[in-house]
Amino acid sequence: MRKAPFKNEPLTDFSVPANKRKMQEAVGRVRSHLGKEYPSIVGHQKLFLTVKFLSYNPSQKDQVVGVFQKADETHADMAVKVAAETFGRWSLAEPAKRADYLFKAASIMRKRRLELAAWMVFEVGKSWEEADGDVAEAIDFLEFYGREMLRYAGPQPLTKYPGEKNALRYIPLGVGIIIPPWNFPLAILVGMTSAAIVCGNTVVLKPSSDSPTIAAKFVEIMEEVKLPHGVLNFLPGSGATVGNPLVGHRKTRFVAFTGSKDVGLGIVELAARHQPGQIWIKRVIAEMGGKDSIVVDSGCDLDVAASGVAAAAFGFQGQKCSACSRAIVVRSVYEKFIEKLIPKVKAIKVGPVFNYENAMGPVINQAAMDSITKYIEIGKSEGQLVCGGSALGGNGFFIAPTVIKDVHPKARISQEEIFGPVLAIIKADDYDDAIAIANDTEYGLTGAVYTKSRSRIEKAKDFFHVGNLYINRKCTGALVGVHPFGGFNMSGTDSKAGGRDYLMLFTQAKAISEKIIK
Ligand code: NAD
Repeated sequence: MRKAPFKNEPLTDFSVPANKRKMQEAVGRVRSHLGKEYPSIVGHQKLFLTVKFLSYNPSQKDQVVGVFQKADETHADMAVKVAAETFGRWSLAEPAKRADYLFKAASIMRKRRLELAAWMVFEVGKSWEEADGDVAEAIDFLEFYGREMLRYAGPQPLTKYPGEKNALRYIPLGVGIIIPPWNFPLAILVGMTSAAIVCGNTVVLKPSSDSPTIAAKFVEIMEEVKLPHGVLNFLPGSGATVGNPLVGHRKTRFVAFTGSKDVGLGIVELAARHQPGQIWIKRVIAEMGGKDSIVVDSGCDLDVAASGVAAAAFGFQGQKCSACSRAIVVRSVYEKFIEKLIPKVKAIKVGPVFNYENAMGPVINQAAMDSITKYIEIGKSEGQLVCGGSALGGNGFFIAPTVIKDVHPKARISQEEIFGPVLAIIKADDYDDAIAIANDTEYGLTGAVYTKSRSRIEKAKDFFHVGNLYINRKCTGALVGVHPFGGFNMSGTDSKAGGRDYLMLFTQAKAISEKIIK
């Protein structure tokens, strides 16, 4: 049956009382399921191991969200071998059938939409809107990649050649290791996993230790749609203990990673090392960090720019790879822009996100809290604090939204990814200087400009070197299919998740040429 063209899943409007009530109920239901134990899954086996680890609620530090099995090298070896055995069968499954598993999973997620969002409220501290957006994006990935597989499986355009029948097929690679981050714990995890399996690969999914419960919910959904055993193996555990052996395994064919620069570079290096008996070069798809800027030009609507900067800097506590961590403002509107921005930042309510009123929740864990507050102290010596500037009380990892002005473009808080609610404001001499400052980091993920000038818009298109450039809008909130997402330089391999090239990364093209015998 032909599928209707892809369209994005609409977001839930929580200002509608009925939606708010339903979400409150979902939060209540999830609360009563906290603290359960989840097995690791290898083939048809559900593993309960001796060593466990816990996932906690960052809004309420001592509240356990889920109990998990801590896998080690032995389990990594077992999981890769099972995935390799399963590959023989799964790679031959009809593409339409493989796509159908994704469509069915999307339909279940739609029905469980608010419950899945509520799990994210508890496990990673997403506000209701952010959590709802994450589920919507996960559904989008399933619907988009399912359709993309149908397109890739169709006839591919080739130049006609007399006397031959030619075709090009996109065939799967083999066993993939999927390593997602915790910050889009459903969307990115579902995107990378579903892209890999719909192409006919089998995978071992190693979720982040900060968000294994949400991962387990997705695995449950794939069980419910009866994805054959061994296609999706689920192996929580620490990066070093289980991640390294998975990446280094000789039967691993590719790694799809999203996370920090340092871990990503380590994976690239390990995967490049040839193991005895390995007969391919491993492919690594690595999406990494960002140091994203919004340029504010003279003559733009400063209210709109200030709202865009505040939303992009402090949405999900600044813990998005696309978050605006630098506002680069031209000298003539510098003070005025800051005047407009500050009340907007001060109005942001911070607190436990199981309460709808709190637009900003906690940062993910103690290590993040320590690292972000350390950066705030560094920032105070590198510029002038204008608001926030410290951790807040309470039983969670709360940090006040922090703005530091007069920051030098080469300062540490201007160059290093902080991954928290800290915004540096940098003064530029003029628009060209602002673009030069924006380009002067090792990253190149997202960026935005607010300007009314057509020629400056065109200049940004030509010279602002980022994978995702936005004009007169904020630099977060990429939509599947609409804004294919991925960055340049140390932001990764620019693999453009949610775009038409993405599935190519999980396949290899086989050209088949048959001589026509008369
Ligand atoms: P992280 O690098 O700490 O961890 C990412 C994943 O790698 C986790 O699952 C972790 O368990 C695993 N890991 C850690 N060490 C490993 C090892 N040695 N071998 C294998 N796996 C290992 O990142 P994070 O804190 O989860 O996520 C935040 C980072 O992700 C930020 O830098 C952010 O910018 C980036 N990010 C990038 C994108 C993008 O599309 N470019 C999207 C989201 C997040």
